[in-house]
Amino acid sequence: MLGFSAGRKGIFLIISCPGCGSRVSNKHPVCPHCGTALDAAADAGITADEAQRRRRLLRRGRIELQSYLSILIMVAGASWGFVASEYLEFPVPFWPMVVTSVGALWYLGVRIYGIFVK
Ligand SMILES: [Zn+2]
Repeated sequence: MLGFSAGRKGIFLIISCPGCGSRVSNKHPVCPHCGTALDAAADAGITADEAQRRRRLLRRGRIELQSYLSILIMVAGASWGFVASEYLEFPVPFWPMVVTSVGALWYLGVRIYGIFVK
């Protein structure tokens, strides 16, 4: 993919021809310069709408992954604290508490970020 062009037909992709390397629109079924079929190249390229949709999906996926990771850290920290404190005898050790807090804060941050990034 080399870039986008906006014409009367809307936004289309400029791709480089796999045969001769010229820059051609993906609206052409074959390259106007050398006649190479562009279907494969067009499949590799994606429309602007599709690109936006994929970016959004990727972002949502990353938010989801981060919330799972932060929950995992929270649970790991809490379990560690539980065991290290010999089943909740106080005071709870420092480092497990830090890990649990980091996980909790991270989770909170990811959730808040997720509200603004739809
Ligand atoms: Zn060509």
